[in-house]
Amino acid sequence: MTHSKSASRATLVATLLALALTAALSGGCAHRTAPTVEGGWPLPGETPKNIVLMIGDGMGAAHVTAAMVEAGSLNMERLPLGGLMSTHAENSFLTDSAASGTAMATGHKTNNGMVSVTPDGAPLRTVIEHAEEKGLSTGLVATCSITHATPAVFVAHARSRDNHTEIARQIADSEVDVLFGGGAMYFLPRTGSGGIRDDAADLLSAMRARMPVALTTEEFAALPDGDAAAALLYPEHPPRASQRSVSLTDMTKRAIEILSRDDDGFFLMVEGSQIDWAGHENDQEWLIEETLDFDRAVGAAMDFAEMDGETLVIVTADHECGGYLLFDASLESRKVTWSEFGCDTHSATIVPLLAYGPGGAGLGGIMDNTTLGRTLIDYVRR
Ligand SMILES: [Zn+2]
Repeated sequence: MTHSKSASRATLVATLLALALTAALSGGCAHRTAPTVEGGWPLPGETPKNIVLMIGDGMGAAHVTAAMVEAGSLNMERLPLGGLMSTHAENSFLTDSAASGTAMATGHKTNNGMVSVTPDGAPLRTVIEHAEEKGLSTGLVATCSITHATPAVFVAHARSRDNHTEIARQIADSEVDVLFGGGAMYFLPRTGSGGIRDDAADLLSAMRARMPVALTTEEFAALPDGDAAAALLYPEHPPRASQRSVSLTDMTKRAIEILSRDDDGFFLMVEGSQIDWAGHENDQEWLIEETLDFDRAVGAAMDFAEMDGETLVIVTADHECGGYLLFDASLESRKVTWSEFGCDTHSATIVPLLAYGPGGAGLGGIMDNTTLGRTLIDYVRR
């Protein structure tokens, strides 16, 4: 069945208005009178000790709705605060992951394709760099190469997201305590070891001086207890969720175990990377599979946060992907019965932002991704 684009747009606008209204009614307005920080966003007094920022790459409201239909309920429903987030880039209303990630990691807009640098190429300090300066432990977990745009923006600075070997060098030189994902080939020389580096540098042996590095599922399972670890489990990207031998939940749990040993607190970014790729492919089955995989990792973070009581969990997206719309579903058979993809790229609509824990009440209403970035930096610097 086909639908006109204007009908699709009307449905989307109605959905977003309903979401915005829900966010406002659930407390988004209650904090407008609180003291403001630089940038003008009101913040309540509570400061989180730990922050877990969970990014569903390309995950719009319809992606969440479809996953909710199939699962019956989601761990994301355990986050009672939040609202919606705008995502535009400096040079384009339609953002990519690098520009939107840079906004969340640094509080600044930049151009599409750029990794935590200004449009002129000057480095922008990231929340992870601020956290390290304050003595917090830090981590990055992703279901793509760890050099890919979203994890990269939290620790590297580059004019182009495509410069994976340079981003790998900066990641290897960083002080990030946990690095779980794919991308081993960007850390290894072209000669002999399955790498693609032309500079002959073996960055993994340099990293092994400060942390154990796992390259296989078995090595991941055998990672020793300690305060730092890396696992680059695939030469480039991991396969889709149903084929991954180490799930995003496994990586998230292990990362929190390691980072929570630090009494000063931690900042962890977890990305469900392939929700976006399923959106580009207009593959609904894959999209739901990845959103549910991401949601299980949200559950692991929430289990820790609920027990710990000092952890802020944020679930959001860098942008929507696929122009995905859900028109109808059966709750009885738990199936989406009527949906449509509007494009094979990102879309420009605002995305969900959910929060739980101390500091979560400072994230509500309709906020920009730079405001989220500034708020995160404010929290880790307190
Ligand atoms: Zn994308």
